[in-house]
Amino acid sequence: MNKSALITGINGMDGSHLADFLLTKGYKVYGMERRSSSKNRTNTSHLEGKITFVNGDLTDQNSLFRCIKESDPDEIYNLGSQSFVGESWNTPEQTGDVTGMGVLRMLEAIREYGKPIKFYQASTSEMFGKMEKFANENTKFHPRSPYGVAKLYGHWITTNYRESYDMFNVSGILFNHESERRGIEFVTRKITDGVARIHLGLQDKIMLGNLDAHRDWGYAPDYCEAMWLMLQQENPDDYVVATGNTHSIGEFLDAAFHHIGVKDWTKYVGQDERFMRPADVYYLAGDSTKAQEVLGWKPKTSFDEMVYKMVQND
Ligand code: GDP
Repeated sequence: MNKSALITGINGMDGSHLADFLLTKGYKVYGMERRSSSKNRTNTSHLEGKITFVNGDLTDQNSLFRCIKESDPDEIYNLGSQSFVGESWNTPEQTGDVTGMGVLRMLEAIREYGKPIKFYQASTSEMFGKMEKFANENTKFHPRSPYGVAKLYGHWITTNYRESYDMFNVSGILFNHESERRGIEFVTRKITDGVARIHLGLQDKIMLGNLDAHRDWGYAPDYCEAMWLMLQQENPDDYVVATGNTHSIGEFLDAAFHHIGVKDWTKYVGQDERFMRPADVYYLAGDSTKAQEVLGWKPKTSFDEMVYKMVQND
């Protein structure tokens, strides 16, 4: 019989890519979205008729229980969150409620339902925050934003419920991953969208914040495969997923402007205080040796290929 999966955050970048992937594996897919008068299905309109959308909210435990009951899943992927780091200083409480407490509510709803459901929690490299060198599963956490702190709660409660109740819970500690479906407020998509607009004569300049940041950027569809692999193992465990290559924002700008034939982008890029953060993560690089050895996972898409796809799409 085909397996069924419930994905929270279905309309986000990862939710939509994971649904695409699980459909190729023959899953019956349920996607949880918040009920609203205006639907936000930019990333998922192509999935209408192929998956089942269910109404639920990570801040409402009963709604989570009902979603589980309706979908009767073998696997739950908790990808829903307030996921924009910059915004988490403006709405720290709401970020904690959705991104942190939401995980606890989902775990409690699974317990209440009673069936052994495999649970994937979307942990993040933002939990490492202030780090040097390559982070792996044993690296100390030092989150630098209300978002990172909330995610760390989600990470530990997932581990705690695994140890307390013998649940099949895993956390994937994913480093930054991007795609054509990335929200426009994230720096990568902001740049590729800006570059496309500059090329088309629709915009003069891209205004950015801290240009000193370095990130280990991978391609989101590759990372969704790692999520799935984690739930197919004999035993639940946590894994870092990363490319192992880190790039500066300047290098991202180089790669993006290269595709419209611009070598010196300095006249097209400005800095604006509004995009600076009270505390930032300057450097992230991940060591995914464990995922490569145990899961047999490898990133498939190179940095240049990813940037090219994003610029081309925009
Ligand atoms: P994050 O790693 O999840 O915070 O992903 P983002 O894409 O939001 O930010 C990556 C890095 O880019 C952070 O260090 C930001 O401070 C930096 N950055 C610089 N300018 C901008 C900007 O205009 N927007 C965003 N989102 N980030 C920026």
